[in-house]
Amino acid sequence: MFENLSDRLGGVFDRLTKQGALSEEDVAAAMREVRVALLEADVSLPVARSFVKSVTQKATGAAVTKSITPGQQVVKIVHDELIKVLQGEGEPDQLRIDNPPAPILMVGLQGSGKTTTTAKLAKRLKDREKKRVLLASLDTNRPAAMEQLAILGQQIGVDTLPIIPGENAVQIAKRARQQATLGGYDVYMLDTAGRLHIDEVLMDEVQAVRDVANPRETLLVVDGLTGQDAVNVASEFDGKVGITGVVLTRMDGDGRGGAALSMRAVTGKPIRFVGLGEKMDALEVFDAQRVAGRILGMGDIVALVEKAQEVLEVEQAERMMKRFQKGMFNMNDLRSQLEQMLKMGGMQSIMGMMPGMGKMAKQAEAAGFDDRAIKRQIALINSMTRKERANPDLLQASRKKRIAAGAGMEVSELNKLLKMQKQMADTMKKLGKMGKGGLLKQAMR
Ligand code: GDP
Repeated sequence: MFENLSDRLGGVFDRLTKQGALSEEDVAAAMREVRVALLEADVSLPVARSFVKSVTQKATGAAVTKSITPGQQVVKIVHDELIKVLQGEGEPDQLRIDNPPAPILMVGLQGSGKTTTTAKLAKRLKDREKKRVLLASLDTNRPAAMEQLAILGQQIGVDTLPIIPGENAVQIAKRARQQATLGGYDVYMLDTAGRLHIDEVLMDEVQAVRDVANPRETLLVVDGLTGQDAVNVASEFDGKVGITGVVLTRMDGDGRGGAALSMRAVTGKPIRFVGLGEKMDALEVFDAQRVAGRILGMGDIVALVEKAQEVLEVEQAERMMKRFQKGMFNMNDLRSQLEQMLKMGGMQSIMGMMPGMGKMAKQAEAAGFDDRAIKRQIALINSMTRKERANPDLLQASRKKRIAAGAGMEVSELNKLLKMQKQMADTMKKLGKMGKGGLLKQAMR
């Protein structure tokens, strides 16, 4: 689905990775080509621009590990940036379909594949999550569409709400809820009417349905082949009815892939699923990692760089351990530890792994040590000068005031941080004294 883009980028990076050293001009020239490739794939201009800018910044600032070439490093940076553009920050979302019966509203233009997708998703929920699903078509203008859903429902073994001629969309939505409640369904899906274009009447109807159904999820189905149009449609629907996610259909076709790349960045809404064909099981959960891999087609290099980075991290950790054994633990060390904690998912997990730290981990938890608290502490450390970080004993009242103000915090918070650093330094010293083969070494393994 991303063949052209993939070919173009492949060419750029093949050349880049063969070079030993990279000048700024090399990177700049490669990035110009990346930008053109993205635009040709119908990625929106602002997205392509910010993508290239972000990669360039990271590429120029990146420390290149010994075992890889700068070009390989750039590939990895592009790979990570692709994932970010495709999925946004944080974890991919799950459908919120607890609290039965959970209503899912399906919206989109006519011909986007909405009815097909509704059935595919129902099948998926039934087969994979063992949910009891009820389907209802609200497309009162097109009896054929209502029939189509009934037929698909039969085909996949999912119940559909019986059609009562003369009802309007809101009445059907209410009846679907009743039926879903009485019938003990886990999920009911409302397949709303589509039009060829976005118009007032359509939006009014979808809004009215939304207001009575109060959906847990409102999924917009858009045709992935339509590129930037798909993104525009998503923005419009989101503005008018509020969507919680997007399904991109026809990703099995020879679309240029731009819709997938622009969607999250422009609309802020996640792509939840992609349609990959007309069959009822041709629906996949959208996986940014896999898509980025497909676009770049350079999995080997990405794996290589990841490996090299791991080695680098181990080297750094070993260096730090040596310092700790000597009882050296300043604010730089504390910052690295805090950053590491953020990466590894909290204080608990790390301290729990270190002997003698179990108690501190409990204290930390009790003190409300969450990501936010850790980030605040890092901000405080960042507000110190280099000298102060290396030697926290320098911190007298006036310096403390300056640092706290610089981070927008109270001196009391800084004091807490200092106390923590001292405690950790003491603990390190004690552990270090236990000898070379001592506890710290063991903890490292
Ligand atoms: P609706 O008007 O939005 O409800 O669209 P339909 O669900 O009726 O789909 C229109 C056509 O697109 C049908 O022929 C579907 O089989 C086809 N279709 C839907 N999703 C996909 C997809 O992911 N890939 C392909 N190739 N065709 C699809």
